[in-house]
Amino acid sequence: MRRAFIGLGSNIGDRCAHILLSITEMKKIPGVNFGRVSGLYNTESVGHVRQENFLNAVIEITISISPEKLLDELQKIEKRMGRTRGIKWGPRIIDLDILFVESVEMNGKNLVLPHKELAFRRFVLEPLYEIASDVVVNGAGQTVRQLLKKTPDKSNVELYMTSDAVLNKLNEV
Ligand code: ADP
Ligand code: MG
Repeated sequence: MRRAFIGLGSNIGDRCAHILLSITEMKKIPGVNFGRVSGLYNTESVGHVRQENFLNAVIEITISISPEKLLDELQKIEKRMGRTRGIKWGPRIIDLDILFVESVEMNGKNLVLPHKELAFRRFVLEPLYEIASDVVVNGAGQTVRQLLKKTPDKSNVELYMTSDAVLNKLNEV
């Protein structure tokens, strides 16, 4: 079993419902066990494409399947939820990224771990910090706390819904 962290994002329609549904779907993946869930964060989009704000969150899981298989399952969920591949970094119903898998480093065509942009995205580092502040990100060799402290990304990231509220909502469905 390996511990892994997934970054979730949505900026189309009912963003909160999309994030919650994707968590419910990820719980069904064989070989995945759920750990902590961060709150939901309202975040300004970064990059060159002007678009609606995102809601972002991070979850902790342990996996007995390979990282490649995990990515495959995440992409199936994205597809089922109606995600079409449009502009790079453009609007999306749901985006599920593998942030890192403990003690795994890889540079594959379809999968790079830890995620290339991790250290440069405050919208990922803030929710990750909430649930894993002292975890060392392999590759970077630094804790999430250290990465957050020195990230050059100064964009606005605000707590939108607490982790407890997210867990309550997940139990309702
Ligand atoms: P982004 O998440 O960068 O906004 P996409 O979700 O469209 O863009 O992903 C583009 C590609 O990134 C995917 O087809 C996937 O193969 C690749 N990729 C590489 N490393 C990762 C990772 N750690 N997690 C998720 N996707 C990854
Ligand atoms: Mg992605």
